[in-house]
Amino acid sequence: MPPDIKSLNREELEAQFKSLGEPAYRVAQLLDWLYVRRAASWDAMTNLPKALREKLRAQFSLQTLELARKQGAEDTTQKFLWKLADGQFIESVLIPANPALYGEASDRHTLCISTQVGCAYGCKFCASGLDGWKRNLGVHEIVEQISAVERWHATASLKCSVSTVQTEDAGGLKTENSKLKTRLVDNLVVMGMGEPLANYDNLIKALKILNAPWGGGIGARKITISTSGLAPQIRKLAVEPMQFRLAISLHGATDAVRNRIMPVNKKYPLAELTAACEDYQKLKGRMITLEYILIAGINDSLEQTRPLATLAKKLYAKVNLIPYNKVEDLPWVRPADEVCERFLAALEKNDVTATLRREKGGDIDAACGQLRLKTERELAGA
Ligand code: SAH
Ligand code: SF4
Repeated sequence: MPPDIKSLNREELEAQFKSLGEPAYRVAQLLDWLYVRRAASWDAMTNLPKALREKLRAQFSLQTLELARKQGAEDTTQKFLWKLADGQFIESVLIPANPALYGEASDRHTLCISTQVGCAYGCKFCASGLDGWKRNLGVHEIVEQISAVERWHATASLKCSVSTVQTEDAGGLKTENSKLKTRLVDNLVVMGMGEPLANYDNLIKALKILNAPWGGGIGARKITISTSGLAPQIRKLAVEPMQFRLAISLHGATDAVRNRIMPVNKKYPLAELTAACEDYQKLKGRMITLEYILIAGINDSLEQTRPLATLAKKLYAKVNLIPYNKVEDLPWVRPADEVCERFLAALEKNDVTATLRREKGGDIDAACGQLRLKTERELAGA
């Protein structure tokens, strides 16, 4: 398979077009087709000469994600299961505007994207790692998740307003065009399937494309990368010029708790992870978020709030408490609501900025990896 056109950045495209003897403005036209109109085929790019389209077709692929399954109604959390060109499945989750956990209060839609098929890190509570790691996503497969969701949304909303479009004349066409160009996602969280920092180069290149004004146009401060704690890559991220937000999947404030549920802690124990986070915080001057899933009997005792508060204050971090989302076949359960509320109150009493997620999307297997797992098991059963 030739390289996908969406895995190239603007400079690389300019160099390619130069070698093809094409003028620079053609690159701008192509970028408009790819990232503004979200074209799904070469033939759609009608203002590019046919001969150029043929040359591009011969050199590059233009892969789109095939929607295999979708859960959730419009205006609620919606989960997309995508089939990749090699038949593997990944997930993206679209979360409508809410007092944002990771961005500004004015956020319209947050998209949670995947970076790998499966995950090698095998956290004991997580569906994504249950069947191990299959492969990294390419740059284009990360970038295309946003385009595919926005393409789907534009088509869905066009269908809703089809009667308006048909009854209007020239004005109707304008409505159609602006709908197709409408940006839906303005906040990105890299918290879907996979460990983003284990696919570092593709992740960063994709995020730069999604951030560029000619690409996704999503502000770096509106992009949150979540990691289970890959200390060396956190240090690498700290020296990137981009101001991405960082979230750490902590889930335990002592090595004893983390070792029990997250094998990655054996490789990068808390002292090492904390040191890397401190460096990140100092270099970036940005607030880190600590993710803390509450799992009954594992990490939800009030005793745990003390080391957690100490860590959060040391890192100037905010704590996001997330009641555990049940995964089929796994023994873990979420604590009772009162336990979660008490845990939150204890942190706040300790002067920690903390929030408790009162679940959105728990009813549609919103935690990463669950829809894929379910679908693959159904397919295997069939
Ligand atoms: N690998 C990265 C990003 C993907 S996981 C990481 O671990 O940070 C995204 C988040 O979902 C992590 O905080 C992860 O711990 C959490 N998660 C996984 N399974 C979950 C479940 N069943 N319920 C609630 N959160 C879950
Ligand atoms: Fe991988 Fe993150 Fe799931 Fe752990 S929580 S298995 S690192 S996807």
